[in-house]
Amino acid sequence: MSRHPEKSSDQAARDRAERDSLLETVESFVVAFVLAFVFRAYVVEAFVIPTGSMAPRLNGEHHACVCPTCGYAYGVGIDKGTAPESLGCPMCGSAVPVPRMPNAGDRILVLKYMYDLFEPQRWDVVVFKYPNDPSQNYIKRLVGLPGEKIEIVGGDLYVNDRIAPPKPDRAQESLWMPVGDTRYEGSGRPGRWRRSGSAGAAAVTEWPATLSPSDGEGAWLEYRHGDAHGPPEAIRDVYAYNVLSAGRDGQNVVTDLRLRADVTLEPGAVAEVALTACEDEFRFVFPASGLGQKVRILRNGQLVAEGPADAVPSGREICLEAANVDHGLVLKVDGRRVMDLNGDRRLDEQDTVAYEVPSRSRAWDRSESEASGVRIGVRGAGGATVARLRVDRDVYYTNDRGTAAMRHGRGVESDPCRLAADEFFVLGDNSPNSADSRRWDHEPVVSRDHLIGKAFFVYWPSAGPAPGLPIRIVPTVSEFRFIR
Ligand SMILES: [Zn+2]
Repeated sequence: MSRHPEKSSDQAARDRAERDSLLETVESFVVAFVLAFVFRAYVVEAFVIPTGSMAPRLNGEHHACVCPTCGYAYGVGIDKGTAPESLGCPMCGSAVPVPRMPNAGDRILVLKYMYDLFEPQRWDVVVFKYPNDPSQNYIKRLVGLPGEKIEIVGGDLYVNDRIAPPKPDRAQESLWMPVGDTRYEGSGRPGRWRRSGSAGAAAVTEWPATLSPSDGEGAWLEYRHGDAHGPPEAIRDVYAYNVLSAGRDGQNVVTDLRLRADVTLEPGAVAEVALTACEDEFRFVFPASGLGQKVRILRNGQLVAEGPADAVPSGREICLEAANVDHGLVLKVDGRRVMDLNGDRRLDEQDTVAYEVPSRSRAWDRSESEASGVRIGVRGAGGATVARLRVDRDVYYTNDRGTAAMRHGRGVESDPCRLAADEFFVLGDNSPNSADSRRWDHEPVVSRDHLIGKAFFVYWPSAGPAPGLPIRIVPTVSEFRFIR
């Protein structure tokens, strides 16, 4: 009598526990299902990128090209006609085969109703209902906020007649477009960097390269844009993505440039980066620690600003970065912002970095290839080893107009757009090939109630063909990413 009830009570407890656990499982399934449903309906929604207006960061249907010579991988937007067998590599110029079956557009997740809680921020990538046909969803970058006057001048965004506030790093990183990169040079091929000065003008064929200053001028490497065998070209607002599209690429010379380089300085060396923007040459000076010299930025030989001393370690590889963007100057060491003339150390009005940016519509009396230039050099008592030189250009917003009269203006040069309350101005990153607030007929602005949400994650990047299957399903795994 004493054992059986115990046993049966154990059994009952186990049964109860099993039932509870089953109930819990069912319950958690139901909760998960309801959560997923709610999440899908109210929190995130999936969209597929329809066009290349946000390329190269977000791609519509495109050919996924990989250069067999240098390994550069990039997308080329599809065109209505038949794609050619091959295209020239934007990095090394070699023939790149064009895959017959294009990849699908990126699939993204959008945070819905985020803007019910938080005010939209300039440079957010947003999904919204197209103002002239709210049944269509569009994706663009939000650049103008309610009440602002928006105007594009010289490729830059102006807000209330002043250059737009500096982009946050997350947005600026997305808007730097690759122009040249020594990772796609070398192995004996002549690349785009040439030694200048006493060493002659030989193209560098192997990386890393050694710089040994022998006189006061120092030893320099000069970036020469374009095909290594052809004449030097100006850095323009060209997108490899657009080569099959009837866009208006390359109409404008771009002077907002960034150079990044992995550099090992010998003690006593002073590295310099020179960025040319039309008549202005900006020099970013990186003296090796131990010299007691400050980092500094010069404009046409005149000191503009100084930073801290001993900010540039010698004897080990460091990443030097110099950028001239949106009329501001940034100097970084190992990703750390050492000088920033955008922010708290803003130049005063008469010292503002201002230059006439040449375009096809303006007369320009010098060779256009001289309008923008990039050099890196070393002076002083020590040499340097340089590797992984990367040149990027900033987005250049073009002044392409729409055709019909608009209610609010187009936001292009001399035709600014004045935003009313609850109105936003949007632009595509692929400016020459983007239908956005500049070009929409009738209704160029996005009203607050047409905003769907903030694009935040690429969850199924540019699906490609699966071997042996007629459908495109295989995501480009390396491309899962947050949208900045
Ligand atoms: Zn290549």
